[in-house]
Amino acid sequence: MRYSQAFIPTLKEVPAEAQIPSHQLMIRSGMIRPLAAGVYSFLPLGYRVVHKVSQIIREEMNAIGAQEFHLPALNPIEIWEQTGRVAEMDDVLFHIKNRDGLVLAPTHEEIIAYHARQHIKSYKDLPQIWYQIQTKFRNEPRPRSGVLRGRQFLMKDAYSLDAKAEGLDLSYEKHRQAYERIFDRCGLKYFQVGASSGAMGGSGSQEFMVESSHGEDTCAISETGNYAANIEVATSWLPPVGRLDDNPPIEKFATPNARTINDLVEQFNIPLERCAKSVVYMADEEPILVLMRGNDELNIEKLMRVVEGARLRPAEAEELSKFTGANAGSIGPIGLKTKMRVIADKLLKSANGLVSGANEDGFHLRNIDFDRDPTIDAFHDLRVVQPGERQGGPDGPELRVVRAIEVGHIFKLGSKYSAALGATFLDENGKDHPIIMGSYGIGVERIIACYVEQHHDEFGIKWNADLSPYHVYLSGLNLKKSDMTREAADKLYVELQAAGLETLYDDRNVSPGFKFKDADLLGFPVHIIVGEKSLKDGNVEVKYRASGDRAVVPLAEAVRRVSEYLGR
Ligand code: ATP
Ligand code: MG
Repeated sequence: MRYSQAFIPTLKEVPAEAQIPSHQLMIRSGMIRPLAAGVYSFLPLGYRVVHKVSQIIREEMNAIGAQEFHLPALNPIEIWEQTGRVAEMDDVLFHIKNRDGLVLAPTHEEIIAYHARQHIKSYKDLPQIWYQIQTKFRNEPRPRSGVLRGRQFLMKDAYSLDAKAEGLDLSYEKHRQAYERIFDRCGLKYFQVGASSGAMGGSGSQEFMVESSHGEDTCAISETGNYAANIEVATSWLPPVGRLDDNPPIEKFATPNARTINDLVEQFNIPLERCAKSVVYMADEEPILVLMRGNDELNIEKLMRVVEGARLRPAEAEELSKFTGANAGSIGPIGLKTKMRVIADKLLKSANGLVSGANEDGFHLRNIDFDRDPTIDAFHDLRVVQPGERQGGPDGPELRVVRAIEVGHIFKLGSKYSAALGATFLDENGKDHPIIMGSYGIGVERIIACYVEQHHDEFGIKWNADLSPYHVYLSGLNLKKSDMTREAADKLYVELQAAGLETLYDDRNVSPGFKFKDADLLGFPVHIIVGEKSLKDGNVEVKYRASGDRAVVPLAEAVRRVSEYLGR
């Protein structure tokens, strides 16, 4: 493409809200433009990258035997009602005002199950992997972060259909490996974490994460790289609180001015970890008392798994006094007004010498022995892991807690959607079963934004040859003034393309400095500079964006040298 004919406006200024470097660079370099909150236009340069990423995904999906679909974004709402997801997705699902019965699809499990019902008759039709690269619509409540969280975005979504659980395991593993190849080929540094699969249900799921301070997920990863987990499920090793030799009986004491754990520690000189902090949660309508070490943060997701699907919320003030007899700050496991389930963090197992609320405002109990005094129904790991803790044991690797962006997600769905939509198959004995499904997503824009985030400097983006909009940025300097330069640059442009190198020819009538700045901002891997000074000695200058290295190369050898460098 000749720059003088092309529509690739670079921008000096970007909107103030574009604070994330990748987002700024994508706007400045003419890849995208914001259109509305969470809605972006891809301009020609950016769309070329979309194509390249999509093609990598396509090749790797086809390599595991997947077949490509194109499913509509407009979906009949009845299908979504049959799986209960109209209610579950709630406000995230876009409804259409002037056409009853249609919604904009936020994902496609339902539609795949719908078609599977029509096409899959027997176990002989299985397994299948069906995928697409298609636009999704989600009414994200806070679509900040540019294309990382759009209300309209491109997703590669794939679905596996299997007859047996072992088949699903195999399909899942194929996807996991395909994802590794996709993200490797896209030049991303990433890690994999076991995720809690949230509202989707099913067992077994992994997320592919890119570390970034702009991420909305939090993960614990070990320095050695062999442990990574979403903070929702991350575990660490810590010594238990344990037992003191001196074990006197429980004693009530007045704490009129202690409202918080810190007050207790300061006023009564109690070690923080021996303050058994109590909170009451409502699991549906049942109150549950949860006990943690005073210095620990309760991990709600871990608690959610303990209550197995019950809806959790903190008890309100009236509920607290009704069920315990006290207000927050004076609650504890002993002397509760109402008998309730009591669960405690496993670090408190068998601990004694503990202090907790007396369920009477302004009073606490000391010398509590968890083996002797209260009834604790169960001990679970309920803490949020903290940075610096170790994984596995006292000598295990140290954990970092980092923010991360989810670029991909694979999970075993089971038969939730197939059962709801009647997508069944006949087994060898003619018996009907729901198809066992898996679902696998990748955010195309997220790959691109993460790549830019990981590969840039103060001057612009640094594309690799596989993702770059073009392979070569060809600058012809002062073309209006020098016929020799124009002829040489025009000829080189034709030769580069003939050699299969995608080239953007900067033939604009602007100063060399202007061209160099744009070349760095756009960040193609190779910049060839054709100028009169070098040409007089039969040379051009080649600049490599990744290293910043420059080389003077004979004009006649330029195409070969650049092809070699780019490996094509
Ligand atoms: P998140 O937790 O970030 O909202 P999700 O769990 O809703 O993600 P999935 O439903 O698993 O995401 O979608 C699969 C993939 O689609 C994600 O891994 C992500 O890469 C991408 N994706 C999801 N939501 C968006 C969005 N609003 N904008 C851009 N990409 C998205
Ligand atoms: Mg989401």
